[in-house]
Amino acid sequence: SNGLMAGKRGLIMGLANDKSIAWGIAKALAAQGAEMAFSFQGDAFRKRVEPLAAGIGVTELVDCDVSDGASLDAVFDRLKEVWGTLDFVVHAIGFSDKNELRGRYVDTSAANFQMTMDISVYSFTAVCQRAAAMMGPGGSLLTLTYYGAEKVMPHYNVMGVAKAALEASVKYLAEDLGKDGIRVNAISAGPIKTLAASGIGDFRYILKWNELNSPLRRNVTQDEVGKSALYLLSDLGSGVTGETHHVDAGYHVVGMKSVDAPDI
Ligand code: NAD
Repeated sequence: SNGLMAGKRGLIMGLANDKSIAWGIAKALAAQGAEMAFSFQGDAFRKRVEPLAAGIGVTELVDCDVSDGASLDAVFDRLKEVWGTLDFVVHAIGFSDKNELRGRYVDTSAANFQMTMDISVYSFTAVCQRAAAMMGPGGSLLTLTYYGAEKVMPHYNVMGVAKAALEASVKYLAEDLGKDGIRVNAISAGPIKTLAASGIGDFRYILKWNELNSPLRRNVTQDEVGKSALYLLSDLGSGVTGETHHVDAGYHVVGMKSVDAPDI
C-alpha cells in the first residue's frame, strides 16, 4: 500500500469501543497504510474491539493489563514473534477510581493515588522500555494527556496530577530515547465524550464550557486527534520530540470566558 504510514508497523493500546480516542487514531493511521496490532483490557472489551479491528483489516489482537509487567512482556514478546521490529506505539490509557473524580483533590486516598499513577503514568514508561528495544531510528511513541495537567479543572483531581507527571515523563523519555532516533510526544486533547470521560463528574458541563469558550467555538472530534497523531507518528513529525501538542480547538490559550458566551 502507499500513504504516510506505508511500511510502518505499530501497536495501538487503549481501544475500548468506537468512541475511544484510540479508534480515531487507528482510523487515521489505517487510511495512510499503517499495519497495526490492537491491545485491549480483558475479555469484556474483546467483543467490542474485534469488529472494529476486522473493519480496518487488523488481525493481531492482544489482551493487556498495563498494571501487570508480565502482561506487558507478553504483548511485546508476541509482537517480536510476528513482526520482529516496531515503528510506533499509541498509549491511550488512563484510569482512576471515579469516586475520586468528583469532590476535592485533597481527599484523594493513597491507594487510588498509587493506582492512578501506575496505570496512567508509569505504564507509558513501561511501554516505552519494551517498545524502544524493538525500534530503530524513526520510531515514534505517543501518549494522550489533558489540560487538567496544567490548570485546575473541576473534578479532574488526581488525574490532573497524574497527567502532569505523564507530561514530565514524556520529556525525560524524549531525552533518553532521542539518542537512538526515537521520538516521544503527547497529544493534549480537548474533552471528548468517551467511556473514560463519563467517569468524570459534570463532564457535560466541561464539554459545553469548552464549546462556548474555545477560540474555534466548538469541541474537537476523535478524528481530529487522529489527524494530529498521524503527524506525530509519521515522518511529518520527524523534527518533533518531547512535545505536548494541544488538539483542543485552542482552549489552552484562553484566559477568561468569551464575551459572547451565554451563561450555562
Ligand atoms: P476510553 O475509555 O475509550 O479509553 C481508555 C482506555 O484505557 C480503555 O480502553 C481502557 O480499557 C484502558 N485501560 C484502563 N486501565 C487499563 C489497564 N490497567 N490496562 C490496559 N488498559 C487500560 O477513553 P478515552 O477518552 O479514549 O481515553 C484515552 C486516553 O485519552 C486516556 O489517557 C485519557 O485520559 C485521554 N484523554 C481523554 C480525553 C477525553 O475527553 N476523552 C481528553 C484528553 C485526554
